[in-house]
Amino acid sequence: MGGPLLWPAAEPWPMCREEHSDPDSASRPAPAVAMVPIVQVRRADAPSVPFPEGTDLLQVLWCPYEHGEFCYPLPRVHWRDSGAVGEVLPTPAPGPELPEDWYPARCAVHPEQVTEYPGWDLPDEVGDPLKGRFDELLAETGWRYFYHLADAPGIKLGGYPGWTQEPVWPDCEGCGNRMEHLLTVASWEFDGESWRTWLPEEDRVDPRVSDGRRWKEEAHNPAGLCLGDAGGVYIFECRTCPERPIGHWFDCS
Ligand SMILES: [Zn+2]
Ligand SMILES: [Zn+2]
Repeated sequence: MGGPLLWPAAEPWPMCREEHSDPDSASRPAPAVAMVPIVQVRRADAPSVPFPEGTDLLQVLWCPYEHGEFCYPLPRVHWRDSGAVGEVLPTPAPGPELPEDWYPARCAVHPEQVTEYPGWDLPDEVGDPLKGRFDELLAETGWRYFYHLADAPGIKLGGYPGWTQEPVWPDCEGCGNRMEHLLTVASWEFDGESWRTWLPEEDRVDPRVSDGRRWKEEAHNPAGLCLGDAGGVYIFECRTCPERPIGHWFDCS
């Protein structure tokens, strides 16, 4: 998360030249903004992600300013063959004027594959008949389906988008099909309820030696993000169209 990226010296660093809708004109960004690294993932670390043939590196960047009516950051997705990168371009440090909450601090990722189920994306005709079982589950274990068993909170590749609001799946402009979810960048890794099942074992501390504060500081928001009122940015792609166009959405509470 947050770079540095294995970026070839032969390619210019991506710049955003879109119009920014930041209402604070005093902090109005320069016309061209160097995009900031969001995630870099190697194919070997994400075996269930369908990398395009001949690539082994996924790189996502975005411009952290507000774009368009819904004020979301504007992402870019690059798939690469790491063996073909050659000389590496140093990753530029984010400018001091950039909104810090809107891009991740540098941190290492330790990917883990998990099984999850639809939350906001659970169709009523499936969810309604299950209500009784959700109630039983709660009575027996204290677990709520939507918090503890459905879609994983936090930053993730694949699976269901970690929506904060009603799902908004973009359609591909090329072929018209609904896009696939590639990446969710969430403000928090879990909340005051969902940590009970989604806090990784490695981040739990022995309650005998801690008051529980450590996991909150170190595991709850390691990337230092706060996307709006603690929402998420969702990046989608069309895997049918050869150039793999992307779509994106942002929501918060
Ligand atoms: Zn921009
Ligand atoms: Zn398409």
